[in-house]
Amino acid sequence: VAKANGKNTYTYFDFSFNQKLTEKIETQSELRKALERNEFILFYQAQMDLVTKKVVGFEALIRWNHPSKGLVNPDEFIYLAEETGLIVPIGKWVLHTACKQLKAWEDAGYKDITMAVNLSTRQFKDKDFVKQVFDVIEETGVNPKKLELEITESIALDDLDYTISTIQELKNVGVHFSLDDFGTGYSSMNYLKRLPVSNLKIDKSFLDTVMEDQCDQKIIQTIITLARNLDLFVIAEGVERSDQELFLQEADCDKAQGFLYSKPVPKEIAEQFLKKLDNSPNIQ
Ligand code: C2E
Ligand code: MG
Ligand code: MG
Ligand code: MG
Repeated sequence: VAKANGKNTYTYFDFSFNQKLTEKIETQSELRKALERNEFILFYQAQMDLVTKKVVGFEALIRWNHPSKGLVNPDEFIYLAEETGLIVPIGKWVLHTACKQLKAWEDAGYKDITMAVNLSTRQFKDKDFVKQVFDVIEETGVNPKKLELEITESIALDDLDYTISTIQELKNVGVHFSLDDFGTGYSSMNYLKRLPVSNLKIDKSFLDTVMEDQCDQKIIQTIITLARNLDLFVIAEGVERSDQELFLQEADCDKAQGFLYSKPVPKEIAEQFLKKLDNSPNIQ
């Protein structure tokens, strides 16, 4: 009996393992075609100035408009794209598309709007990365000062010297960098002071429980103070309720992003926010 059980267990495991592997290989091959088939789309999530309560920028977030599955979120395919190296051309497409959109908004009169773009490890580590960004800036004619590239602490720390020189090269032409999901990685003060980044993005996990958890309140306050002392801006992500917003305003946080203001939305809807907020007479 034991043997039969063992065999059954083995067969079951084997089946599900094979199934997962097959699914993975299938998704990878679909991913390979997705770029040329134009299946990717960027959504934009508003970033609010906590003092003026106006939209001051957007974060571009990729979606995969899969032929049978519909809109697929990045957590389900970015790691696969990273594994296969497809993230490099996909990342370039993201950067190009986001910059083209930013330029269009600039041309429509929204000159102060910023655009945040997420970078993956492989994209950032690619030997042509800096050139890629330079090319996109030139091709789109975007103001590089309005572009914010987001990396996580783990990407940044992997090879500190490479990270510093890469950020510095792009900073020289005006591009800003942000540390995404800040507080969830290895936040050593020693590297933070050496990184030429401009913004810290407080991770959503601290916000989730901030109204119940004194400890999270202190952590957020400490991150904001740290940012002030290092001359960095701070943005909180994952703000869903107005009590969280109030807390952040009182803690002197610069900006906020979250479902309280808007989910990530297609460009046409994002543009409506800008139109609503714009008072200049040349835009209708
Ligand atoms: P992230 O850069 O930390 O982006 C924030 C994520 O939190 C987004 O999920 C956003 O939709 C979600 N979010 C924002 N506000 C709220 C809120 O108030 N409540 C809740 N529950 N969620 C909120 P999304 O769009 O699914 O993206 C997930 C992650 O995928 C991103 O995390 C980023 O690491 C990665 N990603 C997205 N787009 C790209 C891309 O173009 N390239 C690369 N390399 N990674 C990307
Ligand atoms: Mg991000
Ligand atoms: Mg984040
Ligand atoms: Mg994240």
